[in-house]
Amino acid sequence: MSIWQEEKSVALKKIDKNMEVDVLIIGGGISGLSVLYQLKDTSLKTILVEKRLCGYGVTSKSTAKITYLQGSLLRKIRKFHGSEVASKYLQAERDGVFLLQKIIKKEKISCDLKKSSSYLFCSHEKNLIQLHEEYDFLIKNQVKVFKTYFQDKLALKIEDSYTFHPIKYIKGLKQILKAYIYENSKVEKICKKDSYYEVLINGCLITAKKIVLATHYPYFLKPFLFPFKNYAETSYIVAKKVNNPLELNAINIDEDVLSLRYYKNYLLYLFHSEVTSKRGCLKESFENFSSFDYRWTNKDLFTNDYLPFIGAFSKHDDSFLFLGGYGTWGFSNATIGSVVIRDILLKKQNPYISLFNPYRNLKIERLIHDSFSTFLAIVKSTKNNVNNQGVIYKKIGDQDVAIYVDENKKEHIVLNRCPHMKCGLIFNQIEKTWDCLCHGSRFSLDGKCIEGPSNFDISFKK
Ligand SMILES: Cc1cc2nc3c(=O)[nH]c(=O)nc-3n(C[C@H](O)[C@H](O)[C@H](O)COP(=O)(O)OP(=O)(O)OC[C@H]3O[C@@H](n4cnc5c(N)ncnc54)[C@H](O)[C@@H]3O)c2cc1C
Repeated sequence: MSIWQEEKSVALKKIDKNMEVDVLIIGGGISGLSVLYQLKDTSLKTILVEKRLCGYGVTSKSTAKITYLQGSLLRKIRKFHGSEVASKYLQAERDGVFLLQKIIKKEKISCDLKKSSSYLFCSHEKNLIQLHEEYDFLIKNQVKVFKTYFQDKLALKIEDSYTFHPIKYIKGLKQILKAYIYENSKVEKICKKDSYYEVLINGCLITAKKIVLATHYPYFLKPFLFPFKNYAETSYIVAKKVNNPLELNAINIDEDVLSLRYYKNYLLYLFHSEVTSKRGCLKESFENFSSFDYRWTNKDLFTNDYLPFIGAFSKHDDSFLFLGGYGTWGFSNATIGSVVIRDILLKKQNPYISLFNPYRNLKIERLIHDSFSTFLAIVKSTKNNVNNQGVIYKKIGDQDVAIYVDENKKEHIVLNRCPHMKCGLIFNQIEKTWDCLCHGSRFSLDGKCIEGPSNFDISFKK
């Protein structure tokens, strides 16, 4: 369990009758709620549906920094797209940071918002040049950035950044927007008709002119072929009580990510990240920490070209919109992304529509490379991974199952494949969940889907 998940929330009403709306938002994390917030004062009749409780998905397991000094991401965007696009991305992030703290202040949301300097440091001497390049780029873009030291390492520092408590923020938005939110309301099926969608939720039919998908990862393959256009990265975090918490947050620019921040008298330390499909043994990764108060893992999505996907899935149809693929920088991106989504829906100009549009041309060589990696990951995952200590595989009737036997000798039997794309599962010994090795779906001990892209459980029924 993450430190944020200690904060509890009371469920709002469920969908229990048929409805007609202009916009249906699916998913109640930072993405969905930010969009609902932006639409609340428009003429569009909008509702949001969340399959469990708002905020307890990926959003509840982040480090919750609000900053535009984003590790190696800006450098990657600069290398991939050039300086002009990177400058635009940087401006979008600065706008997102500014807007998010403005909303918190305007709405008086009590979410432990703290102004906190962000440091970008370099773990390896060989990468120092990257830090100098980043500095030059930030200066060129009129950022007030300082060269300084962080733990004896050369670092850059900005001061207009923040930290907060993500679930308290979500609860604040939920309170403001509660008339339009339905929890414990899972979308089972979406059918496209001529000029509207029919959506099945809790046995009721919701008719919507437009859909905004804010489920972190779309649970269906077509029409966008999402799994081939992004990859998931899993990160490992510990939180530990310290005597001297500081008003700062930091991340390195290197590939082996280290990131930290403080919350009250806790240090939150993200000590390792890896591509989910290459994931090793969780237990070993945490073994270096002999004492901690919380430990958890989380995953986020990186698109093939490192820019988020925000907007319509198709050039010819703006009735189905998505926001996600934030490369672990969801708070600024979802906040500015929600303004982009609002402006698309209202047919207004917005400088970031073209930057984030999901149907932009992705480089063909990158698509082939990533599609091949996805294919290899699926094949590898189906070979009942060697890291799956303590798990027994067998056939019961005609069903392939995986069995975990707990400390009390109780057997937990689940189906052995993720329903999303039939990838294999690994047992997460730390959090006691079944995790998809390719795309990151997660299931409880007894097979309930707790995180997508899967939209179905893997519970075993004899
Ligand atoms: C280790 C780590 C650290 C991070 N730290 C930071 C940070 O410091 N700063 C930052 O800006 N970003 C950070 N991020 C990124 C950020 O946490 C994510 O990008 C962001 O939370 C994603 O939010 P979301 O709303 O898109 O997804 P989610 O929070 O996962 O929300 C999606 C919601 O959709 C719901 N849903 C799914 N399917 C259905 C369905 N069929 N019907 C109804 N509802 C459905 C889910 O239940 C869920 O609540 C971090 C990410 C990671 C992995």
